[in-house]
Amino acid sequence: MALYVHKYGGTSVGSVERIEAVADKLKAFRAQGHDLVVVVSAMSGETNRLIGLAQQINERPTPREMDVLVSTGEQVTIALLCMALDRRGLAARSYTGSQVRITTDSTHGKARIQQIDTERMRTDLDAGRIVVVAGFQGADEDGNITTLGRGGSDTTGVALAAALQADECQIYTDVDGVYTTDPRVVDSARRLDRITFEEMLEMASLGSKVLQIRSVEFAGKYNVPLRVLSSFTDGPGTLITTEDDDSVEKPVISGIAFNRDEAKLTIQGVPDTPGVASRILGPISAASIEVDMILQNIAEEQKTDFTFSVHRNDFDQAQSILQQVMAELGARSVVGDNRIAKVSIVGVGMRSHAGVASKMFDALAQEGINIQMISTSEIKVSIVVAEKYLELAVRALHSAFELDVADVVSES
Ligand code: ASP
Ligand code: MG
Repeated sequence: MALYVHKYGGTSVGSVERIEAVADKLKAFRAQGHDLVVVVSAMSGETNRLIGLAQQINERPTPREMDVLVSTGEQVTIALLCMALDRRGLAARSYTGSQVRITTDSTHGKARIQQIDTERMRTDLDAGRIVVVAGFQGADEDGNITTLGRGGSDTTGVALAAALQADECQIYTDVDGVYTTDPRVVDSARRLDRITFEEMLEMASLGSKVLQIRSVEFAGKYNVPLRVLSSFTDGPGTLITTEDDDSVEKPVISGIAFNRDEAKLTIQGVPDTPGVASRILGPISAASIEVDMILQNIAEEQKTDFTFSVHRNDFDQAQSILQQVMAELGARSVVGDNRIAKVSIVGVGMRSHAGVASKMFDALAQEGINIQMISTSEIKVSIVVAEKYLELAVRALHSAFELDVADVVSES
């Protein structure tokens, strides 16, 4: 008999019918003899509706009252789900985050979980009850309701699984797993049977938005096996876990992530002296603009070019900051391009395989795609290309690294 934590997202509990379907699913699990702790999101659209209400009354509501308000969405679904379970003859009890005693810090709107009291949940489980917990919320030491940030129910699920040392945390959602890349771009994209925490973090932060990133970090830190599955169709989903040593033919590349919302800026003719990078990027970071890739050439005649990429929304602001810096440093000019995209190949297999980057560059060359920037980490190679080449680049790489459905002979 195993202990599972299930988490059902907003679309999975988006209507009375869907809540009934979740209850049916839970009944089947219970019939297999498993202990269940269930975390639910608010019904889809509900959190946004609540935020909209607040906005009509006060454009700048206090973060404390915002949390009191938006945490109610999940309180509705826990109660409705327990009623549905009760109708099926299943003993269940619902709890808000603060009732379970999920203690967080006091950072309203993006609180971090500090401690979870498992005693109450254990008592229910021992008595044969299903425990249903409101996702996305907790309370600080003084009892103020807090929320964990948008998409935070994933983190609640993982945190409860860690605290209870559950056998697996299963995230039920509207997709049937994690894919090699976005199926809307590559129709031969394939569901992955498994992926490591590290790879998932790279995929998620690069735009494959299946799970809240924090939940993956949390799962990796506490080594909670995490599975993403569809609540609408049956299937094994994708298991996110640590690297497994005994899988024989590991693919070198697990997936291809991409991001359209990029822009790059270059400041040309910068003096090649100590402190220049910090004088360029200091004011950028002081303006809370996040810098992604950074590139500096070897100087010729004591002058160099310095390029970096930012989110497209920050492009204009970064450009005007650089104009200022240009004058201060006596640099020649500032040029920018906000029609670029980033494509990354991700895979732990890179650690033990040579030639991955050159294979990537070769595949792009064959399509006549010009690479504008390159950066690498232990398990990732990222490139920047003109935005118009994004789809072509992703498809070319997907097939070069044999990720297409047809490339997989057996998936044991
Ligand atoms: N209801 C919250 C949101 O919409 C939390 C969640 O669904 O995970 O962000
Ligand atoms: Mg979600």
